[in-house]
Amino acid sequence: MKFILTKELGRLAKWLRILGFDTVYFKEENKGRLLIEALRENRIILTRNQKISRESGPKIINIKAENLKEQLRQVLEELHIEFNKDRMFRRCVICNIELDFIEKDKIKGRVPEYVFQTQKDFYICKGCGRIYWQGTHWGNVEKILQEIAQ
Ligand SMILES: [Zn+2]
Repeated sequence: MKFILTKELGRLAKWLRILGFDTVYFKEENKGRLLIEALRENRIILTRNQKISRESGPKIINIKAENLKEQLRQVLEELHIEFNKDRMFRRCVICNIELDFIEKDKIKGRVPEYVFQTQKDFYICKGCGRIYWQGTHWGNVEKILQEIAQ
C-alpha cells in the first residue's frame, strides 16, 4: 500500500513512513499533477482538501480530523491496516527511502556516545545520511500506537 499526501498532512506523512509505508508528501497546489502521480504510482491519496476529495480516478481518502492521532486512526481503520513492528522504522521519515543496515564500527563518532554504547543495531538513509536506531523515539511511537488502537 502506497500513499500520497497533500500539503496539510505533513505530520501524518512522517508517521506513515515510520510505520513503513511508501509515502509521498506532495506540497504543490497542482491538483492535476497530484492525480497523475497517484495514478501512475498506484498511490492512495490522503487529503483534507475538499476539492480533491470529490475527484474521481485514484482512490482518495478524505481525512476528517485535524488531530494527528485521529488522522492515523482513520487511515488505519478505513484501510484495515494492522501494525507490523517488523515493518516499522525501515524508512527514512524525511526522504521516504528504505533504510540500510549499517555496521556499528562504521558509525562511531556519528551518533551520541551513549547511543553508541547502548544500542546494537543501526540503520542509515542513503538519501540524507541520517542514522537511525531503536531508542527512546521507538518507545514513544509504540505508546502513541497503543493509544490509537484503543
Ligand atoms: Zn533520509
